[in-house]
Amino acid sequence: MGCDLPGTLLCDECREALPVIDQDFACPRCGAPFGSIVCTECSAEWTEIGRTVSALVFDGTARRLVTVYKDAHERRLAPILAGLIHRALEESGALAGLEAPLDAIAFIPSTPSAYARRGFDPMEGVAAELAPLLGLPAIDVLAHEDVGDQRALGRSERAANVQGSFAAIGDLFEMRLLLIDDVITTGASARAAALALASHGATVEVCASVARVW
Ligand SMILES: [Zn+2]
Ligand SMILES: [Zn+2]
Repeated sequence: MGCDLPGTLLCDECREALPVIDQDFACPRCGAPFGSIVCTECSAEWTEIGRTVSALVFDGTARRLVTVYKDAHERRLAPILAGLIHRALEESGALAGLEAPLDAIAFIPSTPSAYARRGFDPMEGVAAELAPLLGLPAIDVLAHEDVGDQRALGRSERAANVQGSFAAIGDLFEMRLLLIDDVITTGASARAAALALASHGATVEVCASVARVW
């Protein structure tokens, strides 16, 4: 995956070279690297989610990991991505620091068009691998909201509209959730998902992503 060494998906050398975020120096709120003292990224906007943790900086091999998994159908990467999230959660202490244990893992779903193109939902696969590591069930409770007729919108507006519109499914009363996503850029998507979950009674205590754009 990183260097085309035959016989292994991600060799030890490439794994060592991953741009892992040092959780001791990450922002305790939004998970941005190097924000442990003052984070200029999250300011007062990052309020819908208790805490966000990202495993890697979205660069180099990290970018390739996510892209190959999602768009080249290398589904054997799911446990590797889940393992990276699991390690970041452990190193950050994000779960250990919670007042009460979590109830389940929710995930940001693919858009319907991406699902049709790929034939699988990438984060659903990672959630399923993360579930036994954390001893929590993975639940499929988010959907992209029907955003209506978008033909009048420009391309970037359309993308923003789809990204930011979620509906939660079912009764999630008093559920405490871990929400996972592949890549966090501004956090807008995760926060929109957290708002949808909140409207069904759930709280996103922790959000975790494979990578963070930095
Ligand atoms: Zn390698
Ligand atoms: Zn921050």
